[in-house]
Amino acid sequence: MARLMGQMMQMPLLISSVIVHAACHHGDTEIVSKRVEGDLHRTTYAECELRSRKLAQAFARLGCTDSDRIGTLAWNGYRHLEIYYASSGSGLVCHTINPRLFPEQIAWIANDAEDRVLCFDLTFLPLVEKLAPSLPHIKHYIAMTGRAHMPAQTGIPNLLCYEELVEAENGDYAWPEFDENTASSLCYTSGTTGHPKGAVYSHRSSILHAYAVSLPDSMGNSATDTILPVVPMFHVNAWGLPYAAPLVGCRLVFPGPHMDGKSLYELFESEQVTFSAGVPTVWLGLLAYVKQNGLKFSSFKRTVIGGSACPPAMLRTLEDDFGVSVIHAWGMTEMSPVGTLARLKAKHAGQPVAEQRRLLQSQGRVVYGVDMALIGDDGSTRPWDGKTSGDLVVRGPWVIDRYFKQDASPLVQADGQAWFPTGDVAAIDADGYMHITDRSKDVIKSGGEWISSIELENIAMAHPAVHEAAVIAAAHAKWDERPLLVVIRKPGAEVTREELLAHYEGRIAKWQIPDDVVFVTEIAHTATGKIQKLKLREQFMDHVLRGA
Ligand code: AMP
Repeated sequence: MARLMGQMMQMPLLISSVIVHAACHHGDTEIVSKRVEGDLHRTTYAECELRSRKLAQAFARLGCTDSDRIGTLAWNGYRHLEIYYASSGSGLVCHTINPRLFPEQIAWIANDAEDRVLCFDLTFLPLVEKLAPSLPHIKHYIAMTGRAHMPAQTGIPNLLCYEELVEAENGDYAWPEFDENTASSLCYTSGTTGHPKGAVYSHRSSILHAYAVSLPDSMGNSATDTILPVVPMFHVNAWGLPYAAPLVGCRLVFPGPHMDGKSLYELFESEQVTFSAGVPTVWLGLLAYVKQNGLKFSSFKRTVIGGSACPPAMLRTLEDDFGVSVIHAWGMTEMSPVGTLARLKAKHAGQPVAEQRRLLQSQGRVVYGVDMALIGDDGSTRPWDGKTSGDLVVRGPWVIDRYFKQDASPLVQADGQAWFPTGDVAAIDADGYMHITDRSKDVIKSGGEWISSIELENIAMAHPAVHEAAVIAAAHAKWDERPLLVVIRKPGAEVTREELLAHYEGRIAKWQIPDDVVFVTEIAHTATGKIQKLKLREQFMDHVLRGA
């Protein structure tokens, strides 16, 4: 017998509907942006929707058609947001490019994506001038500024002015309706080997993800919030916030290129920001500034920290010293990116603070829509006992099925299902709280036993003299690999190798304590703010462990 079908309206989940909703129901809610030009700019969701329509008309006038890629090299700001909606909303693909990558990588990515238009903030003018000759697919370059700031002389052919393009249109444009599985945006992720790989998001996946991140046990963004996404819009669509914020109507504050501790603090205060999101490195800078100057936050209540493990010491400082609650989250470009968030359940309410903290320091539990499993070396699934670790795999409607232009499937089979292998090693407890111990390639294998570099880093970060810590595997004749601790001291702080090693006593099994400590003044980060372990490993390849 044929199944009875649901009798609901068929309305595709389209990104344009989010900005239309915000314009209609939160039309006067502000979008505040620190601009590259130096000033503070204010607009609203109503204005943003109108200008996005005009920009969609401009893209069409430039000859852009179905699924043409619109590349961006831009900071977080209202023009970037308009490009998000104008491109995706009109059936084009918004391709955000990370400007912190090497120029050769940027050119490779823009060419692989076959970007037809490149929109860029003025900061990146010299970069674009340099790259233009090697970007044959790009037909139009758009400087994201007004006429007054347009460069007088440039080597970029037919450079267009963003504001002029928008102002030339009348906004008489109806957002088109199409299949919700149509590509909406594209973001490349750089692995450690080979070329970067593209994740192509769809309208459907982006909207479902935006719903999921807005849930109370996820980021819980609401129309009462003022949100400042520090996470860049070129890093996995700023974790979905450019969609999730207008979806619920929360006020948006964009920092533009001004991401140092002082600028961020001043913006948090002047705009009374309640909620933020960013990688741990950003908070290191902000907290250092706030502490050095004896400052407090007057409105900042909670923040999402993810992208790499949030050191427990950072969580404690934010919560205990500044009253900011931390939502530790885990995900990846291939997952749009959010997979898990560390939020308590009702049964944890009466538990001791130490136990609550243990859960809040984990990478958290999955949000509805993401399923996860642990896989052992033999390909079978591992138990959720909080101790057994395995390779973490995921599946869900906002997890990629394949990479852009690649035929080979990245998926693996387990329990009769296809899963995306994350490359992370984790344990999951009976309540579903997941704890990442390492990237599979960063794990330290000592005498056949795994040592978690993240755990060792977290312990070092809790030492008052440590500004930043990284643990890598150093070659060892007997044990194959042993942990080496690399540390940046806080300015003016004194601590010796012996004191740091003693700090591990009683906090971790003796055999897991690092063998040695090296002090450095700088630790290299990737373009998305993660510690470059590969670089550190190369740097300390010939390091001879004491006592080895
Ligand atoms: P990306 O695609 O650049 O966002 O990188 C994703 C990877 O970052 C993940 O596979 C993890 O290795 C790492 N990562 C993201 N969030 C966390 C977290 N909260 N704790 C530990 N590692 C994380």
